[in-house]
Amino acid sequence: MTSLSDLPIRDDLRGLEPYGAPHLHLPVELNVNENTHPIPEDVARDIIESVARELLTVNRYPDREFTALRESLAGYLVSTEPGLELGPEGIWAANGSNEILQQILMAFGGPGRSVLGFPPTYSMHSIIAHATGTRWIAGERDADYLISPETAVDWVRRSEPDIVFLCSPNNPTGTALGLDTINAVYDAFDGVVVVDEAYAEFTAEGEPTALSLLEGRPRLIVSRTMSKAFAFAGARLGYLAADPAVTDALRLVRLPYHLSALTQAAAVAALAHAPEMLAMVDDIKFQRDRIERGLAELGYYPWPSAANFVLFGGVSDPEGLWQQLLERGIIIRNLSIPGHLRVSAGTAAETTAFLDAMRELTPR
Ligand code: PMP
Repeated sequence: MTSLSDLPIRDDLRGLEPYGAPHLHLPVELNVNENTHPIPEDVARDIIESVARELLTVNRYPDREFTALRESLAGYLVSTEPGLELGPEGIWAANGSNEILQQILMAFGGPGRSVLGFPPTYSMHSIIAHATGTRWIAGERDADYLISPETAVDWVRRSEPDIVFLCSPNNPTGTALGLDTINAVYDAFDGVVVVDEAYAEFTAEGEPTALSLLEGRPRLIVSRTMSKAFAFAGARLGYLAADPAVTDALRLVRLPYHLSALTQAAAVAALAHAPEMLAMVDDIKFQRDRIERGLAELGYYPWPSAANFVLFGGVSDPEGLWQQLLERGIIIRNLSIPGHLRVSAGTAAETTAFLDAMRELTPR
């Protein structure tokens, strides 16, 4: 049998591990920070109609500039951030924010260039770096997974990266990053600052996001996704907001027609129902807070989360506990952080099932 190592693969890919979240189908799936609430039926019907209409012309290539979608996304962002001035020319979209990050690294990273990130963070940041031949620099956080402006600037000065990836709220810790840190990083070098805000909608209401920093900062990119708050993970729609010049850079590396006509139609239809699609965000935040409280009562150490998941410490045998939950039909995530596991906030019933199982499995 031929194995991977027998193939003439790029030397810099040898020995790397692919993205590896186990993809199992179980009654309670709280492992990849999905929105476990299905989308409302009337919205689904609208999306189906839009997609059906689009199918009639699917013999033709889609709008390469996804103009309608960019207008919808700009409208949505402006509705969430008071005072934000952002037009469709400052928006770019792709098949999930993973592809957005990949396109950013293809345009601004690549061989001979580097990207600084702050683990523990979203595992795809370093994987996409490797895949695009961009050197990954692992910075270090302060205590409690925070990153002060001083710490961030110190890492930027010492490592001289071309790109800095910041993630707020951070996956897997749930930590929100201060805008002062983002600002300080931006001013500390001449490279591109990417703020991955995949979970922005789960932060406290009224809290400004990195979108509020875009004005006058052409090297700042804010990456978002419809996978989480919009419950649209299966449709694959990620996007960014930035100076229009950034979208010109991405046009150099994207594949023509990368966003299918069906994806564009589905996303535009969903965005027309943004308030309804986002109605479950409050409940998810409520379930997240329930998880934090419930785990603390059982003697674990949940980290304060501004996202739709909770990282918790105080687990004596993470792999054992993960396995025991699995045997009860509940899958959460073991990210190999010693003494820790991460769980996504589910529906009320899923959250109850998780907390009940934890109560049973926790020695008193
Ligand atoms: N960024 C972060 C921080 C994430 O946690 C995820 C998904 N887990 C993504 C980006 C990618 O999401 P998608 O490609 O579905 O938009």
